[in-house]
Amino acid sequence: MKRENYDFVSLGAGPAGLTAVLYASRAGMTTLAVDHGPPGGQLHNTEQVDNYPGFPEGVAGPRLADLMLKQAERFGAEVAYGEVEGIGERGEDGYLMVRVGGEAVRAGTVLIATGALPGKIGIPGEEEFAGKGVSYCAICDGAFFRGREVCVVGGGDSAVEEAVYLSKLCSKVKVVHRRDELRARRVARDAAFGTKNIEFVWSHVPIEIRGGDAVEALVVRSVKTGGETAIPCGGVFIYVGFVPNTGFVDPEKIRLNEQGFVITGGDMQTSMPGVFAAGDVRRISNRQIITACADGSEAVLSAERYMQERGR
Ligand code: NAP
Repeated sequence: MKRENYDFVSLGAGPAGLTAVLYASRAGMTTLAVDHGPPGGQLHNTEQVDNYPGFPEGVAGPRLADLMLKQAERFGAEVAYGEVEGIGERGEDGYLMVRVGGEAVRAGTVLIATGALPGKIGIPGEEEFAGKGVSYCAICDGAFFRGREVCVVGGGDSAVEEAVYLSKLCSKVKVVHRRDELRARRVARDAAFGTKNIEFVWSHVPIEIRGGDAVEALVVRSVKTGGETAIPCGGVFIYVGFVPNTGFVDPEKIRLNEQGFVITGGDMQTSMPGVFAAGDVRRISNRQIITACADGSEAVLSAERYMQERGR
C-alpha cells in the first residue's frame, strides 16, 4: 500500500470493486482496492461475456477484467494484493482501521465487495475428490476432461452455461438437476437443449461421489422414486449457487442475512456508518456483472455524500 490512509477502500477487486474505485478515483478520492486474487474476481472463471454492453461480439472474462483494471488505474486507483482480515472501529481521527494481509490501512469509507464463493453440496466424496475430478470451475478445469464423460450438478444459469462450455470439450455432459424444470434463463436453456451431447437427469439429487484415485461415478437418487443410480463419469462440476465471502465481517457491527450476505439499502449503506457493500456479497437476487458494477457506482455516490456531510 502506497499510503497510510485513503478516502475510499474497496475490499475486493471484482467488477463491483473495480467500478467503485474507478468512480471514486475519478471523483478525486484517494482510492485503494485490495483482493486476495487477480483483479476481476469471477470474470476470470468466465470464458465469454455476451451480456455486458459495449462488446457486440462479446468479450472474454479475463479481458474484461483487464480493461476494468486499466480504466480504474488511469484515474489513479491503487490495487493491492491481500487477504482482508477485518474492519475495526472508527478512530478519533475519523478513519476506520481495515486489516489486510497483516497490515492496517486507514479508510474514510469502506466498500465490502468481496463477492461470493461457489457453494458445496456436502455429500460424501465431495471433499475427498476436490481437485481429483470434483470442480467448481469449468473454465479452469474443463480441459482436464477432454473427450471424457462428466456430470454437472445444478439447474441455474451457471450450471447450464458451464454445461454448454464443457460440451465442447467432453464427449458427454449429464446435467443432474433436483427438479424437472431449470432455474436458468431461456437463453441459456435453449443453448443447452440444442446441444446434442448434453443430457439432463431430471428430478435427481446427488448423494455420493465415488472413485479410486480420481472420480469414477456420481451416485444420484430420484426424488420421485427414491431409486439410486451410479452415473459413470470422470468429473463432477458443481454449480449449486454461491456463499458470500463475509467471514471477516463482525455481524454485531454489520448486519448479515441468515445466509451471510450483507444487508444494505438501495444506497449500498450497511448497518455500519461509512461502510458500504456492492455486488455478489450483498443481499440481492440478480447476480450479473452489470448489476455488480451498478452497485459499485452507487456505493461511491453514497460514500462521497458521507464524506461531504463530515466536511472531508
Ligand atoms: P442459482 O441460480 O442459485 O442456481 C443454483 C442451482 O443449484 C439451482 O438450480 C438449484 O436448484 C440447485 N441447487 C441448490 N442447492 C442444491 C443442492 N444442495 N443439491 C442440488 N442442487 C442444488 O446459482 P447460479 O446458477 O450459480 O446463479 C447465481 C446467480 O448468478 C443467478 O442470479 C444467475 O442468474 C447469475 N448468473 C448469471 C449469468 C449470466 O447472466 N450469463 C451466468 C451465471 C450466473 P433449484 O432450481 O431447485 O433451486
